[in-house]
Amino acid sequence: MTDARANFTADEETAVRGAFADGAVPPCPRCGVPMAHKVIGGGSFGLGYQRRREWLLCPKCRRSVLFDRARGTRL
Ligand SMILES: [Zn+2]
Repeated sequence: MTDARANFTADEETAVRGAFADGAVPPCPRCGVPMAHKVIGGGSFGLGYQRRREWLLCPKCRRSVLFDRARGTRL
């Protein structure tokens, strides 16, 4: 069964976050294909602080992980 809007399991997401925190763009833990890396924002919102979001999207299964990198890797 395929759900186009499914998400990673908590374990899969943790693995992706861990790899990304180390500076790598990890492959999709489910498909093994390279994930697309998109950067959203970058301090251009005029909110008075740096807020950068990074988004990893698997082009195959469409699962994605969103990182809020306002400070470090804390979400
Ligand atoms: Zn995938």
